[in-house]
Amino acid sequence: MPQDFSTRAIHAGQAFDPTTGSVIPPIYQTSTFVQDGIGGFREGYEYARAGNPTRSSLETLLAELEGGKHGFSFASGLAAEDALLRAILSPGDHIVMGNDVYGGTHRLANRLFVPWGVALSTVELTDLDAVRAAFTPATRVLWLETPSNPLMKISDIAALVELGHAAGAIVVVDNTFASPYLQNPLALGADVVSHSTTKYLGGHSDVLGGALVIDDDELAEKVRFLQFAAGAVSGPMDAWLTVRGIKTLAVRMERHSANAQAVAESLVGHPAIERVYYPGLPTHPGHELASRQMRGFGGMLSVALRGGPAAARAFAESTELFQLAESLGGVESLIGYPSEMTHASVKGTELEVPENVIRLSVGIEGEADLIEDVRQALAKV
Ligand SMILES: *Cc1c(COP(=O)(O)O)cnc(C)c1O
Repeated sequence: MPQDFSTRAIHAGQAFDPTTGSVIPPIYQTSTFVQDGIGGFREGYEYARAGNPTRSSLETLLAELEGGKHGFSFASGLAAEDALLRAILSPGDHIVMGNDVYGGTHRLANRLFVPWGVALSTVELTDLDAVRAAFTPATRVLWLETPSNPLMKISDIAALVELGHAAGAIVVVDNTFASPYLQNPLALGADVVSHSTTKYLGGHSDVLGGALVIDDDELAEKVRFLQFAAGAVSGPMDAWLTVRGIKTLAVRMERHSANAQAVAESLVGHPAIERVYYPGLPTHPGHELASRQMRGFGGMLSVALRGGPAAARAFAESTELFQLAESLGGVESLIGYPSEMTHASVKGTELEVPENVIRLSVGIEGEADLIEDVRQALAKV
């Protein structure tokens, strides 16, 4: 019988230590492994850049949760994306990317790959005709992010996969905002899932990491080679902290989603708020699609303030529980001003975020406390 997500999140790749019976597998804090004679590797381990059992346990878990064959853990989300793009692209190739992907993803493509000779187009992913029109004979990658950041747009993974494959592209989905608990892109036909495990997977704002999950053996081999040859791997302590975080992913995502829904509903109709961007609201243009392709609506929401940039700044600087910081996906609530913080690198490009938008990462604190905090802060704008 296939096991429930919550069960797999706790047990996949996490067998107890056979030597001591330790329920939690040890953290293999080592850089190298003794050989039984030259080339006699125990369990295949030789040197920690090539492989470490703690990283392997995380990679097994990631593959299991996204329903893919091969899992890879990297030092950060961007390190994972860089390895993937280098595994796929050569000069002369073309990437089609959503027009509100994570700012750092756009920067990586635009500042590292474009100068190397790769062409980049950004496109509105909710407009399938626009996506179709963006493909060229050189297109090798279609890069999606849904829900998007920070405007929480929902794009149709299955439909975009069909278009991407018809154009000969490898379809990559950055699944960071949803987490594998709420959305599984490989099951919808995508070729690669990418994560910043820094966010919901780690879940406690205490560790940086990235992940890729890939079904295709040939692409996985290329990524494995780059992981080894370029070396942007996660260390054993970071891999272990991420595994520890993932064990509670299911319960955390349920609570993140419930709290975000409650906060979003409390903001609708507030006189200081022009618009609430949250896919759990029936008025959200992607609500119906999100209901089909996700298991819940997640913990991220954004709002546009009627009072413009000044009101937005005042709101972000007036919350008490919601701490003013970049990043997202931790148990504690955070608030951010995308145009000056997470999305500062895309100012002046078509990925620019309106200056009256504030993004909330709703944590798992008490719902009433979060609603009260937002209310008192809005009273000050
Ligand atoms: C944070 C983030 C990244 C980058 O990950 P790092 O771990 O910071 O390198 C990529 N995509 C999304 C959606 C993110 O939120």
